[in-house]
Amino acid sequence: MKQTSYLAKTVDSLKPSGIRRFFDLASKMDNVISLGVGEPDFVTPWNVIEASYHSLEQGYTAYTANAGLLELRVEISKYLEQNFNVSYNPENQLIVTVGASQAIDLALRAILNPGEEVIVVTPSFVSYAPSVTLAGGAPVIIDTDPDNEFKVRPEQIEQAITDKTKAIMLCSPNNPTGTVLSKAELEKIAAVIKKHDLLVISDEIYAELAYDERAISIASLPGMSERTILISGFSKAFAMTGWRLGYAAGPVEILQAMTKIHQYTIMCAPTMAQHGALEALRNGGNSVQKMKMSYQQRRNLVVKAFNEMGLDCHNPGGAFYVFPSIKKTGLSSESFAEQLLQKERVAVVPGNVFGQSGEGYIRCSYATSLKQLDESMKRISKFVEKLK
Ligand code: PMP
Repeated sequence: MKQTSYLAKTVDSLKPSGIRRFFDLASKMDNVISLGVGEPDFVTPWNVIEASYHSLEQGYTAYTANAGLLELRVEISKYLEQNFNVSYNPENQLIVTVGASQAIDLALRAILNPGEEVIVVTPSFVSYAPSVTLAGGAPVIIDTDPDNEFKVRPEQIEQAITDKTKAIMLCSPNNPTGTVLSKAELEKIAAVIKKHDLLVISDEIYAELAYDERAISIASLPGMSERTILISGFSKAFAMTGWRLGYAAGPVEILQAMTKIHQYTIMCAPTMAQHGALEALRNGGNSVQKMKMSYQQRRNLVVKAFNEMGLDCHNPGGAFYVFPSIKKTGLSSESFAEQLLQKERVAVVPGNVFGQSGEGYIRCSYATSLKQLDESMKRISKFVEKLK
């Protein structure tokens, strides 16, 4: 007898990402300025591209070790130690993955038994909750408070913990809010995590892009490295989204389990991208600093512009997003974004796609040229003026 659907129930239950709908709409229009995409507008630094070419010329076209080139793992381990004060053995505590995205998926699949809960703090990157579901777990959502700059409060974590809680996912600097958790804030969160014997999946992909103070890794706090899976990658800071290269570091047992899944499903991250990443870590520091300075300048422009047009916008400490409130306009996030696109040709992402607590906000990526940003701010201001 024919089944009603061939699809697995977990997959069938997932909603398509709310971001896509706006990209599809925008791609059919002319003269659109997109503040929608979460990726650098810079091309990957040339020395990185050249190193990758060169590796191909030299015939490095085969698989690497499952966990990635040992040389690259050594370089990642040095980089993490120097910049974030965390120490990992490149032989068994590090894995090179297909973007931070795969590292998140591996981490969840390595630790979750069916029905175990993972706390997801929203507004969050859209893939966290679906990735928990796909790994057989149950996402438990904590909505953060805009008045607390969307920072999770330790007591909210306490309240969300049940006897099924296995882990919490954290992201600082955050996508979509740009919020950076301070050392003192992380220490309070770490205390709850230790008290309840939980794991942390700490997404630190924007760690290089922290403008006002250095981003702190929760893994560097006392007693936390043994319960943290640190996720990062090359997409954002090194402008390498299309290279699909990320990594995870953490306790030996968990990293070995992740490597086992990786070995059966992916084999290894792309070899030529790994050679590029090696160069990025060895000689890419100046390029990162230049891009960072440029983002900082753009952030300042955009935050000022939103506040001047009467949309409250906190000054985010990192990543390349602002998350202004559109509550004063009386529109929902969806209809603000839709009307703005139709009337003024600016694409932004409605805050509610990042979780319920994002309703009343929009996410704008400022990883686009100052000229485009300037023009988009004029258009948004005109749109908001007309709503009055
Ligand atoms: N984590 C966060 C918070 C992100 O914003 C993104 C990309 N938008 C990723 C992970 C995925 O990064 P990658 O390209 O390395 O898979």
